Amino acid sequence: MDPVWCEVDIDALADNIRTFRRLVGPDVRLAPAVKGNAYGHGLVPAARAFLTAGADWLCVHGVDEVRALRDAGVDAPLYLVGPVLLHDLPAVAALGARMVVYNRETVDRLVALDVPARLHLKIETGNHRQGLPLPEALALAERIAAAPHLELEGVASHFANIEDTTDHRYARAQLAAFEQAVEALRAAGHPVPIRHLSNSAAALLWPDQRFEMVRLGISAYGLWPSKETKVAATLAGRGDLRLRPALAWKTRVAQVKAVPEGAFVGYGCSFMTTHPTRLAILPVGYYDGYDRKLSNIAHVLVRGRRAPVRGRVCMNLIMVDVTDVPDVALEDEVVLLGRQGDDVVTAEMLGDWAGTINYEVVTRVGGHVPRRPVHGGAAPPDDDPGYRPPRP
Ligand SMILES: *Cc1c(COP(=O)(O)O)cnc(C)c1O
Repeated sequence: MDPVWCEVDIDALADNIRTFRRLVGPDVRLAPAVKGNAYGHGLVPAARAFLTAGADWLCVHGVDEVRALRDAGVDAPLYLVGPVLLHDLPAVAALGARMVVYNRETVDRLVALDVPARLHLKIETGNHRQGLPLPEALALAERIAAAPHLELEGVASHFANIEDTTDHRYARAQLAAFEQAVEALRAAGHPVPIRHLSNSAAALLWPDQRFEMVRLGISAYGLWPSKETKVAATLAGRGDLRLRPALAWKTRVAQVKAVPEGAFVGYGCSFMTTHPTRLAILPVGYYDGYDRKLSNIAHVLVRGRRAPVRGRVCMNLIMVDVTDVPDVALEDEVVLLGRQGDDVVTAEMLGDWAGTINYEVVTRVGGHVPRRPVHGGAAPPDDDPGYRPPRP
């Protein structure tokens, strides 16, 4: 028995892939991103769940993830979206992973290596992160084409401002720049068979712009990229699309204690009880990814009821108020993220409380926290997060 653990609903992950398969049709490659420990869901189990449900490729960030997946026997095509050190190029090529390129030095090294490699050019369309302006991209494409062991398999770019707004003019301009770049590359004799630009938000919002591959991220895990994306999808007639969140995060009561009215709780004496109070002490803290900004704001679920966090989140402990939760006992199961009874704490709620986004909430759950695969039911539904009718 672990003091803190996650449950990862394998059926939910699979369901989300099938939902996107229906959305994009049979011909578009689905390439869910499993970077960041599969957005906190556990790299290998998430990868397996996606592939079993019909994902075609997986996107990873770094060579360590390529190794971990290959060691686990995952032989699906892997696409590295992150930088590869020059030193790691032979290993990546040997493992057969595709990689994105945007540096002359990288391509020069690959040319010299004389090992087969399939490359994807990243085009600068307005994100100003990775990516090359078109003239440089064309020059790099020439360099790749001239090396018989290298293949320019794809061309990619990445949206800067699609999930953060319902005004998609910037994203539309990026899309237009991407299409122009592809046209120029093709006119110069580079077929670039796999074009890919869509992330979750684009996959949800723009059915006609998915090209040959979709790099699905947060929504493969059953989470909407943002409220704005949900609004835009609803306006586009896809409001009935249901994603299934897959992650639940749980702990157990480590102590139940009575404290008098007027007692301070935790470091900094930031909370004072206003009535005789029962506190439950929980063995989870910011070390585990329970953000310190959740101090005095968040609530957890115990015995199906809400228990507010009192005082500051410590490194390995929090205190919650269970005065109004009957019969709380030592080692009762507590839900930090997920459903219990008829109530729910969503990643969006935790993100709002902590001043961040659902992406960060799920990804930051500590790597040391065990991820248990489960089938069905553990995670909250995505509709009306946090709302339920008042108790009679
Ligand atoms: C992480 C990532 C994605 C997925 O983004 P979501 O918003 O989570 O769908 C797509 N493309 C690239 C290059 C990424 O790094």
